[in-house]
Amino acid sequence: MSLPAPDPRPPLPTGFADKLAAIVGPKGVITDPADMLPYTEERRGNYQGATPVVLRPAATEEVAQIVSLCAHENVAIVPQGGNTGLTGASVTNGEILLNLGRLNKIRALDPQNFTMTVEAGCILAEAQRIAAEQDRLFPLSLGAEGSCQIGGNLSTNAGGTAVLRYGNIRELTLGLEVVLADGRIWNGLRGLRKDNTGYDLKHLFIGAEGSLGIITAAVLKLFPLPHERHTAFVALANVEAALELLALARQASADAVTACEYMPRIGIDFALRHNDTTRDPLAQPHDHYLLLELSASRPDSGMAEALETTLSQAFDKGLIADAAIANSDSQRQHLWLLREALVHGQASEGVSIKNDVAVPLSKIPQFLRRADQAVSLACPGVRPVAFGHLGDGNIHYNLSQPLGADGAAFHDRWRELTSLVSEIAMDLGGTFSAEHGIGLLKREALHHFKAPVEIDMMQRLKQALDPQGIMNPGKLL
Ligand SMILES: Cc1cc2nc3c(=O)[nH]c(=O)nc-3n(C[C@H](O)[C@H](O)[C@H](O)COP(=O)(O)OP(=O)(O)OC[C@H]3O[C@@H](n4cnc5c(N)ncnc54)[C@H](O)[C@@H]3O)c2cc1C
Repeated sequence: MSLPAPDPRPPLPTGFADKLAAIVGPKGVITDPADMLPYTEERRGNYQGATPVVLRPAATEEVAQIVSLCAHENVAIVPQGGNTGLTGASVTNGEILLNLGRLNKIRALDPQNFTMTVEAGCILAEAQRIAAEQDRLFPLSLGAEGSCQIGGNLSTNAGGTAVLRYGNIRELTLGLEVVLADGRIWNGLRGLRKDNTGYDLKHLFIGAEGSLGIITAAVLKLFPLPHERHTAFVALANVEAALELLALARQASADAVTACEYMPRIGIDFALRHNDTTRDPLAQPHDHYLLLELSASRPDSGMAEALETTLSQAFDKGLIADAAIANSDSQRQHLWLLREALVHGQASEGVSIKNDVAVPLSKIPQFLRRADQAVSLACPGVRPVAFGHLGDGNIHYNLSQPLGADGAAFHDRWRELTSLVSEIAMDLGGTFSAEHGIGLLKREALHHFKAPVEIDMMQRLKQALDPQGIMNPGKLL
């Protein structure tokens, strides 16, 4: 069930792999195809990767030497973090695969400056853990946090479940260290919140999917560690009510809503059916649910009252049908488990076609109505499972195959059905890719939806920073 990929690259010059291997030493090179599999396999099975060599440098200098050598011989490189990306952006097609996983140190943590300096290969959950040890929060949080890496998060401008309160990783980054496409190292590791000294170059590399250079380290913003979290699982009359509930919660909590995740009933059914440890927190089934979380850095902050006030106001207005509030951390985790199990449950329901769209919040109900209608007309029996970061306007409008349908035939309709959904999101002033990026999967959509002037500016930047086109070729642009 592979989707189309660009033509493979030419073979490496003779003896070139040995020169690269000498830079990283035996611990940093993989040539056995079986050992390469975790790096070459794309997690959704949409693409099959192939590479002559996987390199795992352990220092920025090693990355610089590799890139310099590749630039000299005009050899292309695909940088890779945890390989959890969902658009085929770190799939190799004959290029060198440069995995950053060994470049994983925390270089510094400055609690007073509320910053940490982290190498690109640091696993996200590890960065969160180290910050928490110093009573600080690194707020980026997403389902793949146990395996994705800071460099991958930066290169996809990752979002996740706390964007509503803290922003995506672009907003959490103060400085970067980058190996440029000619092998030079740019040290922009400044921990400053104010620095108006010309173009803010770090933003070029954030969200660039490795197409402009290789990020080797970053200075990230930290926040006070929350010592209180109040979480509710709320059943709603409709999606409009979800938006009203969010507005009430923001008002009542002095804007301390940390997460606002939407789930439809079909998603809860998937979670309950495929994960034995989940249970429905409410007595009756409902069509729409919101997982709402407020947090505060000090105990007795009034957040518990804010949540109760919100829910009682919402009941009075007829917005919500039922609600469960977590009274302990284990209850809270159980509510979040439903959200995670929904994603895994969908995989057990056969083939699913994924969309990662965003629209202005006020347009979400309209988007869902129009998208449901369009996909049902195009593919009778299709099961839309629209869930996600409602507080950011970001809906993962996934489509599970009709019951009993041929999975491969359904998968063949990926482009057609994602185009239908993307067109509706774009028509409502939205985007066809909210947080997963472009990679291989959405290149056509990028060229279709972006104005020629935007594509032209992007191509000029690419030409300026990577004139040989050796950085992750064929992705993004
Ligand atoms: C279960 C699950 C849940 C997810 N939830 C979310 C979510 O809520 N929000 C979200 O935004 N994403 C989500 N994702 C997508 C994915 O986890 C993110 O895109 C993540 O940021 C990718 O990090 P990675 O280290 O795995 O990068 P990879 O997949 O290895 O690479 C992604 C891109 O970054 C480039 N890259 C990697 N490292 C570097 C580097 N050091 N320098 C330059 N380029 C580099 C690669 O070439 C590629 O283009 C989810 C994925 C899964 C599997």
